[in-house]
Amino acid sequence: MRVEINRKTCLRSGQCTYLHPNVFRVGDDGYPLAPAEELPPAREAEAEDAAEICPSGAITLIDA
Ligand code: SF4
Repeated sequence: MRVEINRKTCLRSGQCTYLHPNVFRVGDDGYPLAPAEELPPAREAEAEDAAEICPSGAITLIDA
């Protein structure tokens, strides 16, 4: 699974980075960053939770 964040719709609300810091981190410009590479399977549940709670639907999960 890969994670993409749509910067055009992200509200910079911070839930993803606050609740799941093992997957998301805050970039220098305040937008969240997700790993560019495939997530380890053990992290997929965290990415799925973040996608569910994101208030703007800015997180897309892409299955390999
Ligand atoms: S939870 Fe969604 S809107 Fe909030 S910072 Fe993360 S990607 Fe952006």
